[in-house]
Parts: sequence; C-alpha cells; structure tokens
Amino acid sequence: MCPIEEHTATGNRATSVETTIGICGAGIGGLVLALRLAKLGFRPIVFEARSKEAALSEGVFLTLASNGMNGLRAVDCHEAVLREGLETRAIELLNARGKRLALIDQSDHSATFGMPAVTIKRGALTAILIEKCQANGILLQFGRRVTKVDSQPHAVMLTFSEGAGLAVDLLVAADGLRSTVRTLVFPDYPLPQFTGLIGTGGIVDTDIPDTDGIMRMTFGEKAFFGYIKTASHPVYWFDSFPADTPDAMRVLEPTALAAHVRRMHVDNPEPNKSILSAVDEIERSYPLFDMPQLAAWSKGRVALLGDAAHAIGPHAGQGASMAIEDAVVLSSCLADTLDFGAAFARYEALRRPRIARVVKLTRQSASRKRKNSRLSLFIRDLLLPLLIPMTVRASRKMFAYRVDLDPLGTKGGTEYVRQNRQDAA
Ligand SMILES: Cc1cc2nc3c(=O)[nH]c(=O)nc-3n(C[C@H](O)[C@H](O)[C@H](O)COP(=O)(O)OP(=O)(O)OC[C@H]3O[C@@H](n4cnc5c(N)ncnc54)[C@H](O)[C@@H]3O)c2cc1C
Repeated sequence: MCPIEEHTATGNRATSVETTIGICGAGIGGLVLALRLAKLGFRPIVFEARSKEAALSEGVFLTLASNGMNGLRAVDCHEAVLREGLETRAIELLNARGKRLALIDQSDHSATFGMPAVTIKRGALTAILIEKCQANGILLQFGRRVTKVDSQPHAVMLTFSEGAGLAVDLLVAADGLRSTVRTLVFPDYPLPQFTGLIGTGGIVDTDIPDTDGIMRMTFGEKAFFGYIKTASHPVYWFDSFPADTPDAMRVLEPTALAAHVRRMHVDNPEPNKSILSAVDEIERSYPLFDMPQLAAWSKGRVALLGDAAHAIGPHAGQGASMAIEDAVVLSSCLADTLDFGAAFARYEALRRPRIARVVKLTRQSASRKRKNSRLSLFIRDLLLPLLIPMTVRASRKMFAYRVDLDPLGTKGGTEYVRQNRQDAA
C-alpha cells in the first residue's frame, strides 16, 4: 500500500496518471471508481466515514441487474459476485390475495445480456470490492469523514472529522444520497425529497419452499413485500410501506419495528406471514427518497457520482447499477483527455439521458406500490398485467447496455451488443 504522503495533490492543471483523485465514499460507486481508475493507471485514494467493520456489515442485500453485473466486468469483480450471490431468474408479481398478476422471466439474461441478475448481501459485495482494491494497492482510509471541501484553482483541500487534512488534484463525491460534498460544493441545490415510503428487509433462516430463483413480490393492501429463497441460501426478504415522515420508524426499538412490519403484511398470502413471524427484530428502516434533477454534476475540480448525483430509489433495482456505470464512464472520460473539465462535462452528457430513463421507470414502479384504496387496488390489479409488457420492454433496453464494452458511447451502446450477438451467431 502506498504511504499517504505519495498521494497529495500534484497541482496539475491537466489530468495525467500522476493526478491524485480523491474519492469521498467507499460505497459501491466509490469502490468501483477506485478500481477502474487504478486499472487505467491513476492514483485514487478513498475516504470512507464508516469503519471497515461497519462497511462490511451494514445494509441487507441488493439485486444487481445484468447491466450492473456487466459494469463489474470492467473491474474484474463480476465472477466473484456471481459466485457469492444468487442468480435471480424471474420476478413474480402477486396481488394481496396471492393471485399472480405477472411473471417476468429473466432466465435468458445470461445468454442475452452476458450476465444474469444477481441478488447478493451488501456486505459480501462490499467485501469483494474492498479485497480487490487492497489487492491492487489502492489506498482506502476508513473512519475518515470528509467535513470540509475547499476547491482551489490548483487543488482541492479536504478536512476530515479526524486526522490531518489533505490536498488532492480532483475529488469525486461518491458519498451517497445525503452527500456532504454536494451540500458543501453546491449549497443551493435542493435536498432529496421523501417519497412517502419506508423500506426494511432482512435475511432469515426459516423453512419455506424454494422459489427456484424467482423473486416473489406481493402488492399487499397496505404494503409491498418481496422475497427469494434457494436451497443454498436463507430467505432474503424486503418490503416497503407508506409513512408520513422519513423519521417515522426511527423511534421504534428493533422488536417494535418488526411488529409494525408484521402488521403491515397481516393480509398477505403465505409464505409471507411465516417469513415475518420468524423475524423478531429489525435493526434499521430505510426511508426512500427521490432526488430532484440537479443543474450540474461538477464544479471546478469536484464531480458527483452515483446517488450523490441522482438518487434512484430501489423500486426498479437500478441504483447500484447506475453508480457502477457512472464509475466506469467517468474513469474512461478522465483517461481519454488531459482536460478534466472536458472529462467531467463528457461524463455528465453521457450519463444524463440514461439516468433520466431509469428515473422514469423507477417512478412508475414506485407509484404502483402506493395504491391503498380498494378501488385503486382493483384498478391496479386490472391494469398491471397489461402494463407489464411495456415495462419489461423498457427494462430490457436498460439491461442490454454494456458499459464495459462501450463506456464512451462510441460504438452505439445497446446496438453494439445486438450487433455483436449477430456476429457471434
Ligand atoms: C432499502 C434500499 C434497497 C435498495 N435496493 C437496491 C437494489 O436491490 N438494487 C439496486 O441496484 N439498488 C438498490 N438500492 C439503491 C442503492 O443502494 C444505491 O443506489 C447505491 O448504494 C448507490 O451507491 P453509491 O456508491 O452512490 O452510494 P452509497 O452506496 O450510499 O455509498 C456512499 C458511501 O459514502 C460514505 N459517506 C457518506 N458521507 C461521507 C463523508 N462525509 N465522508 C466520507 N464518506 C462518506 C457512506 O458511509 C457510504 O459508504 C436500494 C436502496 C435502498 C435504500
């Protein structure tokens, strides 16, 4: 591992492999960016507020779509994630009485898009990325919360909650939805807006039938519930339910939160109720936010990435994949020009249209989870089977994108993949 002194700013006006690139946040986006930058010859250094132990243990699980899995190819982590995770071969949507509204088959994703969708514990994904960073000699500093950012003409001066400050040439804010760096650099930007939904979830060992790779989701009368179970893994479950304020669940003890969640799903078909009856405590709830579109994703030597630039709720399962894609595109832009201002502008121009499409899809999915009058539930049950094919078509375009093959969009993105497949056939 390089000593910290080797990582101070060079004062370069142009980007070169000597450029020290500070990354605020060792979440999914920050770690993938560090790996890709190092692969391209840069010197990234990552500052993470949490301890390493907390980073490895916090959060429950997430599903990475094929496009996110292909993004991980660019940093050679896709195979480890595939081994550690659970292939998610279909999504089944049920109504509150357990009647199937739709079955979205994803079993062709591996053959069609090059990677399946994979559900994996957050800690396991973080561990894979951290180990890879360490194997590549990338400096990761845990317990280093960025508290002040001073972007000067020749460097960005950083202050931390503990320890000495540091100068870096460029700074990428990968510090999530409530990004401190964004607030410091863009004090006028709007704050994330609460969507009126709170999510929870967990992993529990309970004896229910396998879903055989199907993520089974129920639109209950009060709340939304999903789970997946295979022979080699326990039950991975999640839910979302309406709440008046983002802090509504914070006051509850873990046992009281579990009881609240059970009440939210009391009308659910089995095995949802059996799964929740095995859940005694829920440690944390996750209020779900939307981020208004931001006017710009960079200023001077600082750029935003992942949730810090464009929070995407969990409803379309694309937030993490978007952070991964951002990281691959931004690193390629930086490697392609000596002018970091041009690289930041190109990154934003490449990413904005795709993010806008994903946000649109996500909002459609979220609105379906908010119906609560009997009439709106009835109408949703009637319309959903008709709307699903449209959503599936739009989602498959998302999945087809190969950021690892075409990060700068010079080969036609999805078209490039289609062409490749025709050539291979
Ligand atoms: C309940 C829930 C379920 C979800 N499920 C899915 C899913 O199934 N699939 C999917 O694709 N997406 C899902 N998402 C969205 C996904 O989690 C995010 O989009 C993704 O984590 C964004 O990655 P990121 O790297 O931008 O930010 P984060 O993963 O949020 O990482 C930010 C990092 O920055 C650190 N940090 C914050 N402030 C500072 C500071 N001042 N100094 C230093 N470090 C700092 C944090 O500790 C954290 O490690 C879900 C989100 C939620 C809330």
